[in-house]
Amino acid sequence: MKADSIRLPRPLNLIDGAWVAAASGREMDVRSPIDGEVFTRIADSGPEDVDAAVAAARAAFDGGPWSKLTAAERGRLMLRLGNRILEEAEELARLETMDNGKPIKQARADMIATARYFEYYGGGADKVHGEVIPFLSGYHAEVRREPHGVTGHIIPWNYPAQMFGRSIAPALAMGNATVLKPAEDACLSALRIGELATEVGFPAGAINIVTGRGEVAGKALSEHPGVDFMSFTGSPEVGVMIQVAAAKNFIGCTLELGGKSPQIVFDDADLEAVYPVLVNAIIQNGGQTCSAGSRVLIQRGVYDKVMAELKARFEAVTASDSGEDAVLGPLISARQKKRVETYIAEADAPLVARGSIAQGSPEGGYYVAAALFGPCEPGSKIAQEEVFGPVLCAIPFDDEADAIRIANGTDYGLVAGIWTSNGGRQQRMAKAMHCGQVFINGYGAGGGIELPFGGIRKSGHGREKGFAALHEFSRIKTVVNNHG
Ligand code: NAD
Repeated sequence: MKADSIRLPRPLNLIDGAWVAAASGREMDVRSPIDGEVFTRIADSGPEDVDAAVAAARAAFDGGPWSKLTAAERGRLMLRLGNRILEEAEELARLETMDNGKPIKQARADMIATARYFEYYGGGADKVHGEVIPFLSGYHAEVRREPHGVTGHIIPWNYPAQMFGRSIAPALAMGNATVLKPAEDACLSALRIGELATEVGFPAGAINIVTGRGEVAGKALSEHPGVDFMSFTGSPEVGVMIQVAAAKNFIGCTLELGGKSPQIVFDDADLEAVYPVLVNAIIQNGGQTCSAGSRVLIQRGVYDKVMAELKARFEAVTASDSGEDAVLGPLISARQKKRVETYIAEADAPLVARGSIAQGSPEGGYYVAAALFGPCEPGSKIAQEEVFGPVLCAIPFDDEADAIRIANGTDYGLVAGIWTSNGGRQQRMAKAMHCGQVFINGYGAGGGIELPFGGIRKSGHGREKGFAALHEFSRIKTVVNNHG
């Protein structure tokens, strides 16, 4: 893929409807994970740029044209943006692959999903409303649902376009004005979609995008006293900082911080259906998915059989340069490659299989061959920590109680997959899982815009997706009228 065949966004921020350079004039290099080469630049913004973006959002929310739109009009704008994303999907996908390294097929699917966020929440904009409460005689009591005001959004690099849609679409639907800080490692699709938003007529200040480093621009946004609600997706370490900053400003926040999600395979499962899903749930997007199925718990009676099949399938996985046939592309950065390779090299469990890296893959790209470990001790480092790479660890278990103990035995709780043909067990296991989403005889890493999604404990709190996100991005006000 050549940079000159793709329209690249300029190194500018979107503030108050205009594309502007960082006030300092600073820019940063952008490297493609496919070959490690610098192919463009982005604005390296500072606190003063965040100030300007928050002020623009405030003006849009407090009496600006954005605040005057009806819910139906906001929804219509969002539907238009969804349509434009679909029209530009191929070019956006190519930009995403260049910037993030993900296989082009995955990038295409991401663009459809991104458009869906604007369609789904555009359709929802005028369907969330308050209620009237029967109260004392002579009183009218109602509960209104109102936007927070200015919402801050800090998103990661793993699904840049999807995260853009997932974070800001529900906020916009409820009438908030948004300031988004995309990840410095991959933010070009967010900038390009920002251009499309301006083109379809979003009023100035409704969507502001400020690029730059997390510890500078991200920190400034998370600590900004002008922000009324924060939404963060990324690492637990930064999530804690976001929550502390939100506490100091007495505002709410949602945190989506990743996981170590188990897929639990009982001996009565339809194993042929299980295998491709197990592999895909950790290979998809290079394992850089918060809801990746990174642990597989296998009932002892079928452990050897399942592992023999997984070994063959892992050995057949080839990392390559994200072209049409790629299933596993490079990881996002040299830093992430080193992190994942260190986990593999230092793993405290037997290595069962390694995939390969395609011959002729560009020098300097961030390729890592897939790895399968097992049997892993449930408490081992490789079975406890989020690797965020194509690394699966297998853990044998004896019975339901054992599976529940192991599945719930990490600091995380995001998603669980349960594979069994026993209906009672399906229900018992779903109830016993300490997490935000459970799949039975299936697994949807990252799938399903309609399905509320989020975690507990180190996976974070609050819910994105579904109508639950519309509730997160609004608050209720009780109004009591003594009309006599
Ligand atoms: P990160 O948490 O550092 O970055 C996520 C976002 O937060 C980026 O936009 C970044 O610019 C911003 N950020 C960084 N420091 C900040 C700060 N001090 N204040 C405010 N914003 C800040 O994540 P990372 O370093 O890119 O990845 C590290 C690990 O995090 C990964 O290996 C993975 O385990 C996890 N992760 C999880 C998800 C997820 O979807 N849950 C996404 C990305 C990374």
